[in-house]
Amino acid sequence: MMLIFLGPPGAGKGTQAKRIEEKHGLRQLSTGDMLRAARAAGTPVGLEAKTSMDRGDLVPDHLVIGVVEERIADPDCARGVIFDGFPRNVVQAEALDAMLARAGRKLDAVIEIRVDEAALVARQATRVQETLRAGGKVRDDDKPDVLRHRLAVYHRETAPLIAYYKGRGILKTVDGMASIDSVTATIAKLLDR
Ligand code: AMP
Repeated sequence: MMLIFLGPPGAGKGTQAKRIEEKHGLRQLSTGDMLRAARAAGTPVGLEAKTSMDRGDLVPDHLVIGVVEERIADPDCARGVIFDGFPRNVVQAEALDAMLARAGRKLDAVIEIRVDEAALVARQATRVQETLRAGGKVRDDDKPDVLRHRLAVYHRETAPLIAYYKGRGILKTVDGMASIDSVTATIAKLLDR
């Protein structure tokens, strides 16, 4: 099964993907996590991605596309993949179609996790305060002004994918403001159909 979880930063894509991957024997592929790992390891991809990531901009398409195509060929992706944070624009979506076609696979569903973004920004601001109060460290791209910029990038670049996949009849929308358990249950039900 090949799935995409679509939604703005902070919608809970990663949390839900982790829960669904266990249940369905799939592999979550978070391009954000992959890029952060590349940065930590100091690879050429990581170095090239750094500036865009710190600003909350998308990293160049060729970087993520290359990383994803390599990764989905790994044996642990054979049963299926949940793309979390990819594709982020139409160029990436077309590249994904092409790489899946080359691999003889196809997308089964795109799950859009829809949220109230004002509530999301407020929730994130509270979380940042709590983390700082507890002496923790906040990732640069989770800080409120960068988060707002990432939301703007989401609207400009990524939200058009909703229509892209709706047109193909594979889009399913869930209410991401419900409790974490209830969102998981709704997604699981959609996938069992
Ligand atoms: P995320 O953890 O998915 O929110 O991603 C963190 C950051 O990594 C984003 O703000 C982008 O800078 C970069 N990133 C992650 N996935 C992609 C992608 N598919 N295309 C471009 N940039 C990405």
